[in-house]
Amino acid sequence: RLIKDALSRSAHAHPIVSPTSWNSSRSHHYDVMIVGAGFAGAVMAERLAVDGGKRVLVVDRRPHVGGNAYDEYDANGVLIHRYGPHIFHTNSEEIFTYLSRFTKWRPYEHRVLAAVDDLLVPMPINRTTINLLYKLNLETEEHAAEFLAAQAEPVSVVRTSEDVVISAIGRELYEKFFQGYTRKQWGLDPSELDKAVTSRVPTRTNVDDRYFTDKFQAMPLEGYTRMFERMLDHPNIDVLLGVDYCEARDAYPHDHLVFTGPIDEYFGYRFGKLPYRSLQFDHAQLDMEQFQPVAVVNYPSPDVPYTRITEYKHLTGQQSSRTSITYEYPTAEGDPYYPIPRAENQALFKRYEALAIVQPDVSFVGRLATYRYYNMDQVIGQALATYRKMAQRRAREQVP
Ligand code: FAD
Repeated sequence: RLIKDALSRSAHAHPIVSPTSWNSSRSHHYDVMIVGAGFAGAVMAERLAVDGGKRVLVVDRRPHVGGNAYDEYDANGVLIHRYGPHIFHTNSEEIFTYLSRFTKWRPYEHRVLAAVDDLLVPMPINRTTINLLYKLNLETEEHAAEFLAAQAEPVSVVRTSEDVVISAIGRELYEKFFQGYTRKQWGLDPSELDKAVTSRVPTRTNVDDRYFTDKFQAMPLEGYTRMFERMLDHPNIDVLLGVDYCEARDAYPHDHLVFTGPIDEYFGYRFGKLPYRSLQFDHAQLDMEQFQPVAVVNYPSPDVPYTRITEYKHLTGQQSSRTSITYEYPTAEGDPYYPIPRAENQALFKRYEALAIVQPDVSFVGRLATYRYYNMDQVIGQALATYRKMAQRRAREQVP
């Protein structure tokens, strides 16, 4: 009954989610229970069911599959991302080929502009950004590099996110592009954050205005949700939506558990909560064809409460006289989205990880279970590697 209720709720909440292959005449024992129907859970389910021949139950407390990558059609008929824009990019041919079994692709290269000094300029900073902001006409990479070198301030030991930026491009560009944005995004000054945060954003001396430079960049042609439905559409896989793990744990006996939720939650927060940054998404439908020139515009200014606005039609290529956008407001409370990269948080995670390692019947996979700031392709890679290890162990155990 639990499953049927949940499925009818999910079908109502999202008609394009097919209500899985649940058959009430089946026994309720599963080889593997998987908590979470995001990338980590869906990849594990697909591999265990298809390659491993295991009977799998996927449980998610949200009323839909896809985790944070979930997308849906809004009242405008535009395919929007409920949990913020998700752009697929990877350098791994293996991961791209794997996903291509479940989706066709729409070629898409992501471009971001930043609203700075009443201008919209390319982000990451490149030569065009510098020329527009400083009314210059730097024509070569060497000239742009010389300009940035003249702005840069020497920092003896680069430790924080502030050090990384100031030592590369100087205080003025740091304040315009990074300081306000980072304070809003993390609720912390860049001087309090691990250098990894701003190291993710390059500075370029050429005029390449793509946000990512990965070999494979594309959007799933029919969206992420459709892709997840195909991954999970297998007779060995049942999906239980709108149900928390603690409700399903005892109702559906299983030999092994794959847990992709927050690791601190799994262990009852016994060492305290792992800190996360959350987001509030304000989705809006507008009666105009186009709101902004690219999919994402960043707002680094401390005077604006949101960090960025996304316009989805740039991602989907949909044609319509109306458009749909999302404002993102970082918050301290809410769903766990970004692990906060500070040394003491990693130390706390390590204490939970030590408990996880000695649980042979449980595999911890994904962003929340491994407390890592992973992109989608990294989570897929982690799940594929976890499955391979499980399969190898099984093969070893079967050989006397
Ligand atoms: P999730 O997608 O979070 O899935 C975990 C699932 O587990 C959730 O659905 C949750 O409901 C469920 N769950 C947790 N606990 C329980 C429980 N106790 N019982 C039942 N269910 C439970 N990556 C990119 O590559 N490109 C991008 O452009 C990009 N943009 C992003 C933008 C934002 C705003 C955010 C937050 C992330 C972005 N990411 C992006 C990262 C991407 O979202 C993650 O890498 C990926 O979704 C992680 O997948 P996952 O399966 O580990 O976790």
